[in-house]
Amino acid sequence: MDRVRLNSRLADVVPYDPKYLPAQHMLSANESPANLPEDIRIEIRRRMKRLDFNRYPDPLANELRDLIAATNGLERGNVLVGNGGDELLFNTALAFGGPGKKMLNCPPTFSVYEANAFLTGTEVVNIPRQPDFHLDEMGILTRVAEGDIDFVVLTSPNNPTGQLVSETFIRHLLGATDALVLVDEAYGEFSRTTCRPLLGQHKNLLILRTFSKAFSCAGVRLGYLLGHEEVIDEYLKVRQPYSVDAISQLVGCTVFEHRQMFSPAIMGIISQRERVMEALRQIPGIRVYPSDANFILVRVDNAGEVWQQLYDRGILVRDFSKAPMLENCLRFTVGAPQENDALLEALRDILGGGNGGY
Ligand code: PMP
Repeated sequence: MDRVRLNSRLADVVPYDPKYLPAQHMLSANESPANLPEDIRIEIRRRMKRLDFNRYPDPLANELRDLIAATNGLERGNVLVGNGGDELLFNTALAFGGPGKKMLNCPPTFSVYEANAFLTGTEVVNIPRQPDFHLDEMGILTRVAEGDIDFVVLTSPNNPTGQLVSETFIRHLLGATDALVLVDEAYGEFSRTTCRPLLGQHKNLLILRTFSKAFSCAGVRLGYLLGHEEVIDEYLKVRQPYSVDAISQLVGCTVFEHRQMFSPAIMGIISQRERVMEALRQIPGIRVYPSDANFILVRVDNAGEVWQQLYDRGILVRDFSKAPMLENCLRFTVGAPQENDALLEALRDILGGGNGGY
């Protein structure tokens, strides 16, 4: 037959597109500007020589789970490793969502949460952020009090807007509901805060972290969850058995064992972020939203054209100007100092009233 019947449920689904175009300065995907330190890469190559490529990997990546658990004062059963945070987010929708289930979401935020909800038939209950992108805390508490929310996703710091969720609020919410509260700390290392201390008292708290940002491993695909064993066990029911391959496990263990080596780079990004935010505030026409992450969201007139002019100068940033609640917004990853200089110089050139300015 020369026909195929497609699933009409997917007719309007637009595939996720990170708009990852080649550029001299890649400031669009919130990656680390630095590759893994050379010593770690040497150690990875050494360990790779002993890898049995013919064997399936440990389905649960237990060696890495144990390392992560010990560092966080937890047990193996409190940790789950996934093929990037993305896989664990999808598994969250599978395990806690589905037809008849409800996810509370706080847009504008990471669009993958809503996409996963759609794919799993989960209803999305949106409690939009305030104009300054802080959470509508009262709105969330009031909605959760209705008792029908199955899971809540809070992103701290939030992507793409940069704000932290207050620990007081998380504590309050956890006490007010038995819904799962997933706190996505993908950018947590850049905020120097975590709600990890709350795990002991709250079975319904789950924390997501990733190796992709502070640990220079976006290319490897590794993320992990910290939570109560009863919650982690639910993920074991839905996860793909071998989603974390042997190479990723090996890289993850090596990186995690050497994680102190990343502290100077993390501190460097934080200080660059403060410098870039301050410099952006001096450029006329740009509104800068404060950030605790490794990126900065700005609002600027004609953002789509500014994006193009930056790209023409070899700088790729993320254009959110057509996204709901993010009209005229661009997101800049904090890069290496010279990349940040290139971005600032280009913006001054584009917006500063010189040739081609607005
Ligand atoms: N959460 C947030 C808020 C993110 O921005 C990202 C990556 N863009 C992820 C989770 C997933 O990251 P990864 O799959 O690379 O671990």
